[in-house]
Amino acid sequence: MAGYNLHFMKGGGDAGAQIRAHNWEGTPLGDPANWPAYIRMSISVCLNSNFPISLYWGPDYYLFYNDAYRIIAGDKHPDIMGKPRKEAWPEAWEEVKPQFDAVMATGNSIRNKDRRFLITRFGFIEECYFDYTLSPIADEEGNIRGVFNAVMETTYQVINERRNRLLQRLSLQLHNFQTLEHGYHEATTLLREFKHDIPFSLLYKCDDGLSGTCLLKQSEGISEEQAAQVSWPLREAIISGVAVTVKGLQEKIVDFDFAGMPVDDLQAIVIPIRQGDNNITGIFIAGLNTSIRPDESYKLFLESVAFQIGAAISNGANFEREKLRSDQIKFSEDQLQFAIDAAGLGTWDLDPATNRFTGNKRLKGWFGLLPDAEIELTEALNVIAEQDRPSVIAAIAQAMSAGSGGSYHIEYTIINPLDPIPRIVRAKGKALFDADQKVTRFSGTLQDITAERKTLDALERAYEQARLSKEAAQLGTFDMDLVKGTMEWDERCRLLFGISHNDKVSYEDDFLPGLHVLDRERISKIIQKAFIKAETNGDYDVEYRTVGIEDQQLRWIRAKGKVFFNEHNEPVRFVGSVLEITNEKQNEIRKNDFIGMVSHELKTPLTSLKAYVQVLNARSKKEENAFAISSLNKVELQINKMSALINGFLNLSRLESGKIHLNLVEFNVDELIKEIIEESSLVTSTHKITLMPCDSVMIRADRDKIGQVITNLISNAVKYSPRGRVVELNCQRTGDSVQVSVRDEGMGIRPQDKDKLFERFYRVESTHTEHISGFGIGLYLSAEIVQHHGGKIWLESEKGIGSTFFFSLPAG
Ligand code: ADP
Repeated sequence: MAGYNLHFMKGGGDAGAQIRAHNWEGTPLGDPANWPAYIRMSISVCLNSNFPISLYWGPDYYLFYNDAYRIIAGDKHPDIMGKPRKEAWPEAWEEVKPQFDAVMATGNSIRNKDRRFLITRFGFIEECYFDYTLSPIADEEGNIRGVFNAVMETTYQVINERRNRLLQRLSLQLHNFQTLEHGYHEATTLLREFKHDIPFSLLYKCDDGLSGTCLLKQSEGISEEQAAQVSWPLREAIISGVAVTVKGLQEKIVDFDFAGMPVDDLQAIVIPIRQGDNNITGIFIAGLNTSIRPDESYKLFLESVAFQIGAAISNGANFEREKLRSDQIKFSEDQLQFAIDAAGLGTWDLDPATNRFTGNKRLKGWFGLLPDAEIELTEALNVIAEQDRPSVIAAIAQAMSAGSGGSYHIEYTIINPLDPIPRIVRAKGKALFDADQKVTRFSGTLQDITAERKTLDALERAYEQARLSKEAAQLGTFDMDLVKGTMEWDERCRLLFGISHNDKVSYEDDFLPGLHVLDRERISKIIQKAFIKAETNGDYDVEYRTVGIEDQQLRWIRAKGKVFFNEHNEPVRFVGSVLEITNEKQNEIRKNDFIGMVSHELKTPLTSLKAYVQVLNARSKKEENAFAISSLNKVELQINKMSALINGFLNLSRLESGKIHLNLVEFNVDELIKEIIEESSLVTSTHKITLMPCDSVMIRADRDKIGQVITNLISNAVKYSPRGRVVELNCQRTGDSVQVSVRDEGMGIRPQDKDKLFERFYRVESTHTEHISGFGIGLYLSAEIVQHHGGKIWLESEKGIGSTFFFSLPAG
């Protein structure tokens, strides 16, 4: 290699060395020793400058440059030294040749600021920017011989400025997202304008961090199908939390539109998007422009874009949350207002700073204030009834005192001059305190409880009355919860069962064992029946004996109650009262005993009376004394009547004391009926007693007592129907029972009396019946006798037409 050692080529570092080593003789420029002075000078200036300078001289603009220019030359150094400009920078020559030619032709300098060039100096076509001048190099005669080029690369500044502009616009424009979704849908739209720096972008939304799936929300500069051709390292980016670079995309994405970018190694960077608390909620993928150096600053820029997008989405999410919160607050405020209106509440507010008091319209009305009035607390207090005022003042002071907790709850009366009726109100409120325990606000509600109070007072009075009358009547109460299986007895009820404690009582352990052994089965059956709605409608009315659990005392009790049923007719509650009737019962027993004893005592003389009459009658018949015979017959009839009466009383007393005895024999009912009709006809001249064709039916029963029943029914039919009417008897077998009926054409019986007739001593009170003698025991005894035989007794009647009494007995 030639080595020149000319003075103008001295210095200049590596570039200088290259100039000195270059084979200039192999170029049209020839031996440097012969180069003219103007070029020598220029070369010397160039080599000794620290500013990037190149020179172009000769027919093809041969290139000289200094060491500082090496940065611009890149990998082209040192090959381009001494090469014609066209060979050295073929990529930009077409563009700049006219400028060179112009300088040569005119001798005028040219200045270009930040001019863009696509050059290949590091193995790829790179977008570069330069600030340069092209100035003429003239010879001694002033002829232009070459071009002097001072140049500064501004690629970094230009691109950086552009990037900053983008980031700035991103931060300005992306703050308006109102929801998270909105952010994910529109965040990359702006990038469309910045295709140069981000030729394509993808935005994924990822749910549930590591485990979740990512969904493509937006794509710019690339279709969704094209995006799907690459398996993006989304998971890798999420797990590592840092950006991951993907290269060689041009081979994966079919028909990618390079849109003027050099078709080269297409790269993208996959960046996790974070939100507030560092949660990764998405992925931003940005494609890199193939003509911009994929250096750290490019990556940093894209990460900043991702950061901005993340912040914008975060903002959207926050906005959405805030909106939701404020909506919720608004909703609960509305709800509160509804509740206040629905409950008819007054609301009040006291400003502790001014001690002024205000409230809603309703409250102002109560206080006699105009709708927009605001008054001093003391004025408001004046409307409060005088007797309540001190306690209200005390309650307000207490609520507003530090450390009280601020609660306020009081009831008082308002006497408003515009409203003559006092209003009782319940005030509830809360005082709020600041950090220094100073009251900042004191507000609450007012409820009109006048009506409630009145009802309560009335209720209290009614309850007190009920309690007093219960006490006066010495009524005890019981209450059974049939669902829970519990039973409540008040003190009186406990007393009637001989219980003095206040412990729990139960049906099984206290009620049943407390009953007299002879009443236990009967009463428990009646209660079971009361639980069946269809049978009893839940009515319960009984008499029983108790034997005191503690005092062993026998008491007679009358219990009356009611069973309540649910919608399925299942019994749920059984309540009622109990009353001691021991004295009445004992009186009754004594009375019964007395009646029994008297009847018994009367029977003996009557029996001997009857015997004497019969003896006398026999004698009279012998003596054929007609008057005596008829008189004695009448006497016997009266004796029979009296005997029937006494028998009735005797039976009654036996029945009451449970001593009735059935003397069962087999007999023919129809025969008995015939006999009785005969007997009755003998003593009845006013009515015709007939028997319809009758079945012959054998039964096993107490013949005398059944006879009494039939006699009774016939004598009632006669008693309660006008003279001359027919009394008709009937007897027929129905299934396994026999049914006997006695029909009359009498006054009839009102429906409301029907069942009561069978009660003891019951008589229908009317002008019709007041002159008809009787005790009201005939039907009672008949019913008892029939029921003791396991039969039934009932009647059918129509007022004014007549009645038919039926009874049926089991037939063999
Ligand atoms: P007594 O006839 O002694 O009053 P009962 O027990 O036999 O007593 O009858 C009770 C009441 O039933 C009578 O007072 C009467 O009012 C009414 N009664 C009974 N039988 C008839 C009848 N056949 N027709 C109308 N009323 C009757």
